[in-house]
Amino acid sequence: MIREIIEIGNPILRKSNSDVEIEKIQSEYIKKIIQDLLDTRSHENGAGIAAPQIGENVNIFIVEVNDNPRYPYKPNIPLTIAINPTLQETTKETFYNYEGCLSVPNLRGIVHRYTEINFSYYDELGNYHVKELKGITAGTFQHEFDHLKGLLFTDRISDPKSLVTWNSFQKFHKEAFIEHVKKVVAKFGS
Ligand code: ZN
Repeated sequence: MIREIIEIGNPILRKSNSDVEIEKIQSEYIKKIIQDLLDTRSHENGAGIAAPQIGENVNIFIVEVNDNPRYPYKPNIPLTIAINPTLQETTKETFYNYEGCLSVPNLRGIVHRYTEINFSYYDELGNYHVKELKGITAGTFQHEFDHLKGLLFTDRISDPKSLVTWNSFQKFHKEAFIEHVKKVVAKFGS
């Protein structure tokens, strides 16, 4: 079911989120949340979506990038359903990312993200995974993970002057940013 996106200013996005008990991963309740995340993400063309964004304060997010029209420069990412994720940077090196968020309509801004992270999670069948993620893809996972900590990309903007509307991004910043993304992808492979 396509759910309403909770927007910045709604306290739900700032609450703490609970872990899913492992034995309840395949319960009807959790299955429904995952299905609603899948339906809502594809409807909105997000790169990812986290449970609090549809009003569910549990530690689940999904990421999927498949020639995304909202972010045409993003390398593809296979569907990942991440339950009870953990995330740790493995370098202090960062890159700048022009981020947007379904919960922050019509606004983008520059956030610095770690270029390499260690990421662990349970999938929808309860299998445990550990992955090393790099580059733009690592940035996407850091954005979604932040949602589970009650953070939005706007909290991480170091220069508020980098905030732009979607339209201004297309007009004034997209070209330079795409060149930057190409360099990040060339260096990190994603
Ligand atoms: Zn977001």
